[in-house]
Amino acid sequence: MSKPRVAVIGSGFGGLALAVRLQSAGFDVTLFEGRDKPGGRAYVWKEQGFTFDAGPTVVTDPACLEELFALSGRKLSDYAELISVDPFYRLCWEDGHVFDYVNDQARLDAQIAARNPADVAGYKRFLAYSEELFQEGYVKLGHVPFLDFKSMIAAAPELMRLQAWRSVYAKVSSFVQDDHLRQALSFHTLLVGGSPFAASSIYGLIHALERRGGVWFPRGGTHALIQALVKLFGDLGGTLRLNTPVQAIEAQGRQVTGVRLPDGTVETFAAVASNADIHHTYKRLLGDHPRGKAEGKRLEGKRWSPSLFVLHFGLKAQHPEIRHHSILFGARYKGLIDEIYGRNGLADDFSLYLHAPCATDPGQAPTGCSTYYALSPVPHLGTADIDWAVEGPKYRDRILDYLEARYIPNLRRDLVVSRIFTPADFQGELNAWQGSAFSLEPILTQSAWFRTHNRDDVIGNLYFVGAGTHPGAGIPGVVGSAKATATLMIEDMAGDLGQ
Ligand SMILES: Cc1cc2nc3c(=O)[nH]c(=O)nc-3n(C[C@H](O)[C@H](O)[C@H](O)COP(=O)(O)OP(=O)(O)OC[C@H]3O[C@@H](n4cnc5c(N)ncnc54)[C@H](O)[C@@H]3O)c2cc1C
Repeated sequence: MSKPRVAVIGSGFGGLALAVRLQSAGFDVTLFEGRDKPGGRAYVWKEQGFTFDAGPTVVTDPACLEELFALSGRKLSDYAELISVDPFYRLCWEDGHVFDYVNDQARLDAQIAARNPADVAGYKRFLAYSEELFQEGYVKLGHVPFLDFKSMIAAAPELMRLQAWRSVYAKVSSFVQDDHLRQALSFHTLLVGGSPFAASSIYGLIHALERRGGVWFPRGGTHALIQALVKLFGDLGGTLRLNTPVQAIEAQGRQVTGVRLPDGTVETFAAVASNADIHHTYKRLLGDHPRGKAEGKRLEGKRWSPSLFVLHFGLKAQHPEIRHHSILFGARYKGLIDEIYGRNGLADDFSLYLHAPCATDPGQAPTGCSTYYALSPVPHLGTADIDWAVEGPKYRDRILDYLEARYIPNLRRDLVVSRIFTPADFQGELNAWQGSAFSLEPILTQSAWFRTHNRDDVIGNLYFVGAGTHPGAGIPGVVGSAKATATLMIEDMAGDLGQ
């Protein structure tokens, strides 16, 4: 019996994880990627000896990645090396307060007590709550395909008990009083596109996820992990076709038949799974089909997560005092976040995430040099109609000035190379609707069953994987979505697989 031939469109973490799962299960998988390198948000640039990872840098829950290798009796450690990062993050405020978010209870307690002794007990209660969220939201539901409303109803009592309708910030504030600690325990939602003031408290599980599984960085950078998955997929016999942007998904009635390629040829597949942006997939790739038109329009009415401005730079100096992951809080927290999610324009201030990979892996820069990126959440193009070709370089200068004044002395003097990635690039390079960096905003009414389903409701052999599907953005999220989608595809095509 020949293997069923399936296509995966897009080689982000989600697309690659799905391709590996399907190939391991006995499918013949072709993975189409529009760009010249795999990885999607986890793309990479190399310039003058500096390695610039484009996106994810905080690698959590390595077990979800190890599982992909174990499916075929292999080991992640034979393909990539993960290095433990300590502290997880250094949190810095403009008033000079520094908090090292570490995985050591005594060190954490001492820092919390220094701010507010009563919050030590509050933090313990928060951690216990986060553990419950983790068990319910991640272990039990993190890779379940929510295909019908019944599945949502089944999960509802637990979600209600955990007060999932409240925001992360509101729940955190019910446990700790100190303003900085409230920020320290709630900013994580921003890393998956959610406002701490709007994202469901379920996302408070990220804290337990990090405390349990640690924070890791692959030697060679995050893209080395992408390369490890690409190699695994190749070793399993899968086919990756780079520089091949799919032009259309061919469908007749309720069946997908194949994909149309840039040269006009159509390749036939038994099923197609899209890891590309969900709006792009429905509106553009399936635009000739009534389902694509309708769903594309419906998605335009949804709340999309903001975009990001990412400034990569390389210095001919080293700064060992800068930790691998720093969160540089600005003067405002809620006010700034509200503007990022709702204001037509750029705020006057910013909060930044600073990535300094040489702290863990000096090989990310030439000898004596160091590599960085500064990331600033900014409104997506639907919220703020900014001409980034004009504003991008100005915004870059503002960030460089801020960093030099507060954190990196002589930055301008030592600057060797810099590059920016703006909301316009998220839209142009990644086909992201409105340039959103994380797809649909993670609010309760856009989560689980309310998110794009892993299998289309109308077209039975069209599947989705990645940030727009359940459970959402972030490496563990999209790798979990791949598990949900693969489970469905294996069940749906068990006959073709000879099972
Ligand atoms: C700057 C940044 C920092 C982040 N930091 C972290 C972090 O530290 N930790 C973490 O866990 N998460 C982080 N995230 C989130 C995480 O990176 C993403 O949620 C995740 O990588 C998205 O994966 P995905 O599977 O949805 O696919 P994507 O990465 O979105 O990839 C989709 C792929 O589809 C391709 N494609 C699109 N259209 C077509 C087409 N027509 N034909 C063929 N291919 C197509 C694209 O080129 C792309 O390669 C970060 C995100 C960003 C942007």
